[in-house]
Amino acid sequence: MARVVVMGAGVSGHTAVTFLKKWLGNEHEVVVVTPNSKWNWIPSNIWVGVGQMTKDDVTFDLAPVYEKAGIDYRQAKGVSIHPEGGEKSDKPFITIEYTDPAKAGETEEVSYDYLINATGPKLNFDATEGLGPDGGHTVSVCTADHAVHANEELHKLMDRMRKGEHVKILVGTGHGMCTCQGAAFEYIFNIEHELTQAGLRDKATITWISNESFLGDFGIGGLHIKRGGYAASSKLFAESLFAERDVNWIIGAHVSKVEPGKVHYELLDGDTDVEEFDFSMLIPPFSGVGLKAYGKDGSDITDTIFAPNGFLKVDADYTAKPYEEWKASDWPRTYQNPTYKNIFATGIAFAPPHLISKPMKSPNGTPINPTPPRTGMPSGIIGKAVAQTITDMILNGATEPTHHASMAEMGAACVASTGKGLFNGTAAALTVYPVVPDFEKYPGLGRDLDYTFGEIGLAGHWIKHILHHMFLWKAQLKPGWALIPE
Ligand SMILES: Cc1cc2nc3c(=O)[nH]c(=O)nc-3n(C[C@H](O)[C@H](O)[C@H](O)COP(=O)(O)OP(=O)(O)OC[C@H]3O[C@@H](n4cnc5c(N)ncnc54)[C@H](O)[C@@H]3O)c2cc1C
Repeated sequence: MARVVVMGAGVSGHTAVTFLKKWLGNEHEVVVVTPNSKWNWIPSNIWVGVGQMTKDDVTFDLAPVYEKAGIDYRQAKGVSIHPEGGEKSDKPFITIEYTDPAKAGETEEVSYDYLINATGPKLNFDATEGLGPDGGHTVSVCTADHAVHANEELHKLMDRMRKGEHVKILVGTGHGMCTCQGAAFEYIFNIEHELTQAGLRDKATITWISNESFLGDFGIGGLHIKRGGYAASSKLFAESLFAERDVNWIIGAHVSKVEPGKVHYELLDGDTDVEEFDFSMLIPPFSGVGLKAYGKDGSDITDTIFAPNGFLKVDADYTAKPYEEWKASDWPRTYQNPTYKNIFATGIAFAPPHLISKPMKSPNGTPINPTPPRTGMPSGIIGKAVAQTITDMILNGATEPTHHASMAEMGAACVASTGKGLFNGTAAALTVYPVVPDFEKYPGLGRDLDYTFGEIGLAGHWIKHILHHMFLWKAQLKPGWALIPE
């Protein structure tokens, strides 16, 4: 009997763990270690952040789902990996610390034959002084609880506007090295929509601030969309959306400090400035969650397994090379750790080889560029591919990974939708193929224009709603779940 341990039950880890159990059955053990008691469909937190959905609409309890599926669920966080075992045995293990209220703080060693690190990001608010909802001065929509708080603050602001006050709203990224611009992009337009619906739009100046060097970069170096026989850039697409909705923008900005009602930032040209706000949602930079790794003798081998940013090293080409030499083939395909072949990393937890957007620095040496997004669709696809590989290794004796899921060979869809009603919503729907441009295969723009398209309208809005219900259905393992694509 083999035991597979998955750390993290988010989009990627939950996908991996549920397919592993389905394919491995009861002959083998599938263990999931995750600190949360609820699963969260994070993309819909945006709607919680404007009061269109509740926390219950976007979350469900994990325990009954895992119990029914026969998955061994430990409500705990992974602390360290011991890939060579320890004093007592050579069997690899991880140490975990329970967050389950019944066992809070207790630690345990959990042995494994195969390990998947799917721990997602640490929301690194500490990287910018004054950033974030816990002790800082900005709100967040990165977790369901953050989004509930953001909505409360937004509605307090709307009360002030109803009394006639004119306010300033600032949304975007809270550091020069952030990713996830798409989430902030969606949130700013949901706020704009809410204010319009409430008859308050004229009482707010809305401003976007981001580390992108151009609007519409989204951390993937932008994209081109085939429209009416020509290729329109996402820059044009985004700028027209902002202009039509009277939203200002500050781009190429590294937020260096947040004070009550004030954001300090440095621009790509080296200038510094201050932007005032009454309400601000800024995405934090992401890093790995801080897992450690130890050799058999107890020596610290964290640097062997993890990149300096805390993400796990996989089969990527991490050689430092200039932007001009970056290749699609630098990106990982199997997500297997090169040193310990029974360790894999999926979703945000794997270390990318480099950025996707062009690297930029201010004359002061401050890096100001989006880091690579690993959105829901790639995270789910990668989780499933790694689950297939491990299943083949266990059931069929495969010695090498059998499934591949390179972000340079996969597309992604992103739907940024505003409003929740059937007929009063609108969405910017984009698909991009591949996520990481491949300039050798697709000279010029790096992408296949037949599969890269974008549209603004009601249809995308409906798709987003359908996806919300489909993914929650799938994650709860309701009938037919395995047929729903990632
Ligand atoms: C506001 C917002 C909106 C978004 N909207 C979209 C969208 O519209 N479309 C889209 O494709 N993507 C969207 N994304 C991105 C998407 O949510 C992520 O790509 C996806 O969640 C990544 O999956 P993951 O499994 O890698 O990480 P996560 O889903 O974050 O899961 C990580 C899991 O690991 C757990 N964990 C953390 N530390 C430990 C530890 N030490 N031990 C064990 N477990 C641990 C966490 O509790 C969590 O359960 C959005 C993101 C945000 C923040």
